[in-house]
Amino acid sequence: MSTDVIARLKQMATDPGRVWLVGGPTYGELLARTGQLANALISLGLRKGDRLLLQAEKCEAVLSLYLACLRTGVIFLPVNPGYTVAETEHFLRDAEPALAVTDPGRVEGLQALGARVMDLPTLLAQAEGRGDDYADPAHGPDDLAAILYTSGTTGRSKGVMLTRENLASNAEALVGLWRFTETDVLLHALPVFHTHGLFVATNCVLYSGASMIFQRAFQPAAVLAALPQATVMMGVPTFYTRLLSDPGLTRDATAHVRLFISGSAPLSPATHAEWQARTGHAILERYGMTETNMITSNPYDGLRRAGTVGMPLPGVAVRITGPDGEVLPQGEAGSIEVRGPNVFQGYWRLPEKTAEEFRDGWFITGDMGAVDAQGYLSILGRAKDLVISGGLNVYPAEVEAALDDLPGVAASAVIGVPHPDFGEAVVACLVAAPGAALAEEPVRVALRDRLAAFKLPKRVLILDDLPRNAMGKVQKAELRRIYSALFQGA
Ligand code: AMP
Repeated sequence: MSTDVIARLKQMATDPGRVWLVGGPTYGELLARTGQLANALISLGLRKGDRLLLQAEKCEAVLSLYLACLRTGVIFLPVNPGYTVAETEHFLRDAEPALAVTDPGRVEGLQALGARVMDLPTLLAQAEGRGDDYADPAHGPDDLAAILYTSGTTGRSKGVMLTRENLASNAEALVGLWRFTETDVLLHALPVFHTHGLFVATNCVLYSGASMIFQRAFQPAAVLAALPQATVMMGVPTFYTRLLSDPGLTRDATAHVRLFISGSAPLSPATHAEWQARTGHAILERYGMTETNMITSNPYDGLRRAGTVGMPLPGVAVRITGPDGEVLPQGEAGSIEVRGPNVFQGYWRLPEKTAEEFRDGWFITGDMGAVDAQGYLSILGRAKDLVISGGLNVYPAEVEAALDDLPGVAASAVIGVPHPDFGEAVVACLVAAPGAALAEEPVRVALRDRLAAFKLPKRVLILDDLPRNAMGKVQKAELRRIYSALFQGA
């Protein structure tokens, strides 16, 4: 059993000078704030097992509130502040939070939906008037810590139920693997409503007693200015591509950093190579999802292989299965399944959906992948993004890797769209690098040497941008919708 998040926080708070946020609270002050907030939540009538929905712009209070919920046993339910009131309605109806906490501008909208709402500044002011002594009740490792909703690009967004042990076991595994110590300073520019910024980043820091430079949003100039004080940065791939287009990114600017980590979406081997050439650092790519926390990571020592997500974390098992659930031999492409203390308890109030996504205790991630002879896992894309053209499987990730390798390609997304002859046709959507000119035919010709004929895109579309979500993930369902009639009448 792992050390609970709050037990770890209390250990860290015994050192009076230990800094939690650079320029902000120490661990001792953080613990005191969580005590005040816990007292405020209890006085508002919240009890263990109740849900607290938080929809607020990124600020340090989000983290204090997350930890205060853990202290009380109230289930923390963060929601992307970018969602409209109409979009947030689903979470209110589904999770039935005892309290919704939000920025002042959103209070009325959420009240109109019948929720009990309090604005964040009022809650913080109430907490300040309270004592910081809070007697934590006993919690078990399987108690729910948080519900995070999936980004739900297709269908209804589902509430992912995460336990205290899910979070604790993952934090301990990552701290060891990535060598976090109390001397580390993490540059945090990720959103805090998603597993990456909320759990991976925050818990690695908390479990090692490290500090954070906490930035409200990702701004390349602010990140470059802070890197000389940071030892680790965690980012989504778009952080890295945007930093690469800034001339301020140099070997000197990154000299103080010991580790750059990427995840939440595929990092192209081209970006990995460019980053290494510019800074001398090999980005460490890892793989995870809301339901499972982190699953695999490239090694700290040893080869960080571009285009792969490395090996399973200690205590986590991964297997690749075929269409009938049979376990496939090493090297073959199939469905990625995962088992371990990191895997969630199920989808909130959806027992049938939960049952469908597990096979003999293994969670079916919905991602396709293959493991090479050295044990490195490659992600080949979401199963629902697999293109079946003329009866043959085309893995979008493979075609995207070939496209990203071409000069002048800044980003690519490969989708399947209905085709009268082939069932589905491979379509490539490309964004040109600044100053580069791309055209359909030369791209198709250039791919002929690299890919079998059935994998070649039938169309290459040059776009200004790809639709992405808050984590920088390409919204393929949106692309499929836009181009669904591309071959109609063809
Ligand atoms: P989320 O639950 O929003 O974190 O999304 C999880 C999904 O993001 C996974 O199922 C993968 O499809 C994708 N993902 C996360 N990390 C990576 C990675 N390093 N490479 C490719 N896809 C990734």
